Amino acid sequence: MNILVVGGAGYIGSVCAELLLNEGHQIAILDNLSEGHRAAVDQRARFVEGDLADRDGIAQTVARLRPDAVMHFAGSALVAESMRDPSKYFRNNIANGLNLLDAMVAADVRQIVFSSSCATFGLPERTPIDETFPQLPINPYGESKLAFEKILRWYDRIHGVRFISLRYFNAAGASEKFGEDHRCETHLIPNVLKVALGRQPHVEIFGTDYDTPDGTCIRDYIHILDLACAHILGLGTSASASYNLGTGGGSSVRQVIDSCRKVTGKKIPVIERSRRSGDPPRLVATSEKIKRELGWRPQFQALDTIVSSAWKWHQRFPNGYGD
Ligand code: UDP
Repeated sequence: MNILVVGGAGYIGSVCAELLLNEGHQIAILDNLSEGHRAAVDQRARFVEGDLADRDGIAQTVARLRPDAVMHFAGSALVAESMRDPSKYFRNNIANGLNLLDAMVAADVRQIVFSSSCATFGLPERTPIDETFPQLPINPYGESKLAFEKILRWYDRIHGVRFISLRYFNAAGASEKFGEDHRCETHLIPNVLKVALGRQPHVEIFGTDYDTPDGTCIRDYIHILDLACAHILGLGTSASASYNLGTGGGSSVRQVIDSCRKVTGKKIPVIERSRRSGDPPRLVATSEKIKRELGWRPQFQALDTIVSSAWKWHQRFPNGYGD
């Protein structure tokens, strides 16, 4: 297939593009390089530097490329930042996403795989979270992703744009080529590995008084290669649907740090801090629906396996993409 990967120079998009190329698909990557990196664009892909805020520009790009499908990874994805700057989230994740959808409709491109988030569920009453749980976000990031999920349902109904919304839990790990390198790193695993690399003196734990067994937040870390495979399965479907993507198991912040200590053999000092605004205590998915309906078979579920792949990548590229 001919696929336009929007946000394909970012962490998740770069690995998905790599897998699509490995499977023989033709790929164009559109990215504004605000979060993504030129070096994270697979050399086999065609690269278009462009911004979804540029409504005419994106319309021209989609009309020119006429892809069979779009994968939409571009967006802002930090909970804490969304609590400080909601406008950025509603603009980037909703308004700019609409520019992409309108460009698709105008060019008769009627299939999209969308990066949604577990943040759409807010504070679930229990875990694991399945697709029937109420979506009641507690931060603008989750709200923006939920709004776009709803827009996709209307575009399906009115314009026949088939969608697959994939609600990621915590994407982690790396492929051989591509890994996690944010210019301002806020994510747990890369922050812990920076300490292991000697680039930071300690890692901070945000909140030790949650109602969880060790007092720290629990998240469902899912390997980026398993995530990428789910996107490829999403391309082959004929019906629109939303799926939760996790492992069904959760790890606390302390468990992640312990896994990093084990994998790296480094001490990794910690400092305990107060809670980070907008963080739910526990987010764990069940992914039975995508397993049942699309035959998704995750291969790299163990936390140590995920951390090992990230550690390998960070050792190979200690300065990340270096830009
Ligand atoms: N966290 C932490 N120290 C860090 C980064 C994150 O304690 O340096 C915590 C954060 O508060 C959350 C969990 O680790 O409870 C996962 O955070 P991350 O930013 O990796 O992902 P999120 O769940 O926010 O998408």
